[in-house]
Amino acid sequence: MVEISFIPAFKDNYIWLLVRDGRAAVVDPGDAAPVAAVLEARRLKLETILVTHHHGDHQGGVETLANRWRPTVFGPAAESITGCTRPLSGGETIEVLGRECAVLAVPGHTCGHLAYVLGDAAFVGDTLFGAGCGRLFEGSPAQMFASLARLTALPAATRLYCAHEYTAANLAFAGAVEPDNLAIQRRREAVDALRRQGLATVPLDLAVERETNPFLRCAEPAVIEAALAQGGAGRDPVAVFAALREWKNGF
Ligand SMILES: [Zn+2]
Repeated sequence: MVEISFIPAFKDNYIWLLVRDGRAAVVDPGDAAPVAAVLEARRLKLETILVTHHHGDHQGGVETLANRWRPTVFGPAAESITGCTRPLSGGETIEVLGRECAVLAVPGHTCGHLAYVLGDAAFVGDTLFGAGCGRLFEGSPAQMFASLARLTALPAATRLYCAHEYTAANLAFAGAVEPDNLAIQRRREAVDALRRQGLATVPLDLAVERETNPFLRCAEPAVIEAALAQGGAGRDPVAVFAALREWKNGF
């Protein structure tokens, strides 16, 4: 059994820690210090680092951790990842802590962005957040839309481990897109209660995201109308997605 927990970093990053029989893997160690502290305190051997994309808050700690533990470092071949020993482009199956892990290409936030799927856990970096999705720094709306579809095609029991705590703010936007969506209203109450207690809203349930994440709901009539009212270019899902993404950037 692989135990999954997070190590908080910076303002709102989650560095995911996977542990099995004293062996460890981390996803997107943007900062080495908090990761090293946990590894030392728990006497874990860091075997694997998984990097989803090149942004500094996801790979900033890789070099320091790699120098100390000499793990295998997986990352996108299309991006510059310091210390990467196993460049990937998606479609591969790799081994993480003795388990099979599928690698998915999910470009959009960045051009080489990867997701790692280990059993029913999908580590999605900055592609999909609670009730939201990553900004399009390098990819097109069509690319990001296809990447999100790749994630939502995973089995319904999949839990999504994203890299930031953005759910509350994203739900405020989701409520603006779909003011009559009761699932969004209920989730806002639940998320606000968690945040008041300082608790995380991740990992995410894929089924809940399908009901409340506007970026996954671009074929819903209410979402289409809301996108058109914001100047969306049309009713096809990619145009709706593009309009939502623009709207959210200024929200
Ligand atoms: Zn990023």
